[in-house]
Amino acid sequence: MPIRLFESQSREVRPLQPSHADGVFRFYNCGPTVYAPAHIGNFRTFVVNDVIRRLLELEFGADKVKHVRNLTDVDDKTIKRARDEKRPLAEITQRLTAKFHADCAALNCLPPHVEPTATGHIAEQVNMIDVLLQKGNAYRAADGSVYFKVSSFPGYGRLSRVKERELQLGSALAGKSQAADADEKEDGSDFALWKAWKPDDGDVKWDGPAGAAAGRPGWHIECSAMSKKHLGETIDLHTGGVDLLFPHHENEIAQSECCNGVTFSRHWYHSEHLLVDGKKMSKSLGNLYTLDDLVAKGVSPMALRYALLAGHPRKQLNFTLDSLHAAEKALATLRAYRATLPASGGDPATFAPFFAAMEDDLNTPAALGALFTVVNRGPAGVDAASFDRALFALGLNLAAPTTPKTEAPAEVKAIAERRWAAKQAKDFATADALRKEIAATGWTMLDRKDGYSLEKAKG
Ligand code: AMP
Ligand code: ZN
Repeated sequence: MPIRLFESQSREVRPLQPSHADGVFRFYNCGPTVYAPAHIGNFRTFVVNDVIRRLLELEFGADKVKHVRNLTDVDDKTIKRARDEKRPLAEITQRLTAKFHADCAALNCLPPHVEPTATGHIAEQVNMIDVLLQKGNAYRAADGSVYFKVSSFPGYGRLSRVKERELQLGSALAGKSQAADADEKEDGSDFALWKAWKPDDGDVKWDGPAGAAAGRPGWHIECSAMSKKHLGETIDLHTGGVDLLFPHHENEIAQSECCNGVTFSRHWYHSEHLLVDGKKMSKSLGNLYTLDDLVAKGVSPMALRYALLAGHPRKQLNFTLDSLHAAEKALATLRAYRATLPASGGDPATFAPFFAAMEDDLNTPAALGALFTVVNRGPAGVDAASFDRALFALGLNLAAPTTPKTEAPAEVKAIAERRWAAKQAKDFATADALRKEIAATGWTMLDRKDGYSLEKAKG
């Protein structure tokens, strides 16, 4: 049975099929901005996308799926972080990329086949902007920035229905793409393809498109350029959290289709947000959790993965710590059940209802229900191989450790406290020296705006 998934542009549930002659399914998932450890909302999106990847592999074969997920390693937030810490941008983004990878591994997310970075694809982005300038879809502003001319693309708004909904283009909804440079634009809805260097950017700059100032790419162009480079001009599926639908994905379509003259993505899918205690996660509300925050409470990453899949991906999910207790119990039940199963000889149809739910627009709560129907019936007629196939689809690794990570020893915590105090007092020399002292103990201090965590260094 084909995997059927809601498609955001047509607003219909549609089957996923590869469109290229080589039979390889081309899948692009917008990745994280590596300026801080990802929060559990981000991980809801990445876990849901990991399940899509797994279903595609089961459907088409592991060698017939190409999954690309980018890393946004230059933008206002990463640059601000580097400025605040007085460290080079690449050092900050590499550290947080390593943290992201460690968290993804703990959550049993398969690594994408290609994980391109924005800073590693400047030439590709500049080339694309040059083409858009030549074709009249972009213009240079007085300060040397380059903007996309939204009125030049009649298809603008097709995905988000931005015109029909009479949203004011360039309004508050526009999220992270909006810089304080509106006065340079010809029209409020135009968006930056290239941002001319500003003093706040420090040493972060590259040579720009023809006739433009030195600076850096806008955010949207990186996905258009990296998707084209690694997957080609037309891809089979493009995904992200619902907040990316507008303007990020709308802008990606405009850039790619004006540049390449062909359909950019045949299928768009957006998963819904995670709420915590019924509210949007935010630092000021104190309800923003990272994986480390939960591990420090004794939660296993696999329980978080389970809890994130317990809600329908296209509905908002209200996360509570109670849901993690239920998840730990469910995992224990699955583990005990697995131990009772023979290796083979079961009825292959046992898990048909499970896979039918998974393939019906990724109905993970219904699939978990079907899984527990099997479990509650007992082991008769079921074998480990088919059970493991179902668990592979969910990405639940029952062998993953259930005990929390080790805590840093008291003496390391004490140095970390001194370093944090030095940083708060803007005594960066002392903070740097203490960072080295911490490193010598085999631990790493990960800074956040409002606190820090200690991680066991790798190797
Ligand atoms: P960012 O690092 O901000 O670019 O976000 C990475 C991914 O996480 C994007 O696909 C976002 O749509 C998604 N995301 C951000 N906040 C949440 C949330 N609260 N729940 C689910 N996904 C989110
Ligand atoms: Zn993107």
